[in-house]
Amino acid sequence: MQLVRLIYVSRMTEDCDMSGIQKILEVSRKKNRAQDITGVLCYDPAFFLQCLEGPRAAVNSLYASIVQDPRHRDVLLLGYCDAESREFAEWSMAFLATRDLDSQALAQYAGGGKLDPYALSAKQAHDLLAGIVAQERERLTAQAAEGA
Ligand code: FAD
Repeated sequence: MQLVRLIYVSRMTEDCDMSGIQKILEVSRKKNRAQDITGVLCYDPAFFLQCLEGPRAAVNSLYASIVQDPRHRDVLLLGYCDAESREFAEWSMAFLATRDLDSQALAQYAGGGKLDPYALSAKQAHDLLAGIVAQERERLTAQAAEGA
């Protein structure tokens, strides 16, 4: 099986709100588990930043569907690569909201200014997600125990 990792950024539309995000997470976790997809979704009022990892055909097909979703727009693919192993193996879809994160931790990925995920390289986006997941591991593990 060819394992791949995909990272994209997008902006939430008026078709979505926090309860919409909860719905997305509910559906995503169920569908991702069935497709052997894992990952993380980071939400900020100004953007979604998501990493999907799993079998190539499943990730490609899910991304094709996500791009069409009217609950977000301006979808920009930041990175797509083969992966030797999973970075977010424990989560069918871990969820982090930037408002719950240490602002200093986020600032380090923004070069001291305001974080603009559209300006990140694939490696920077990956390192940001891996970094905040590592920091929030305890909370995310509890989230996973509740079904993430
Ligand atoms: P259905 O549920 O049958 O929906 C049909 C279409 O309607 C879909 O194309 C969907 O885009 C749209 N749609 C569904 N519900 C709503 C709604 N409440 N409001 C407006 N439009 C709607 N899905 C995953 O399985 N895994 C993920 O990791 C994942 N991550 C996502 C991240 C973001 C930021 C967004 C916006 C969506 C994400 N989704 C994810 C949802 C995905 O786009 C599909 O809606 C979902 O996979 C169900 O697809 P379906 O083909 O079964 O469509």
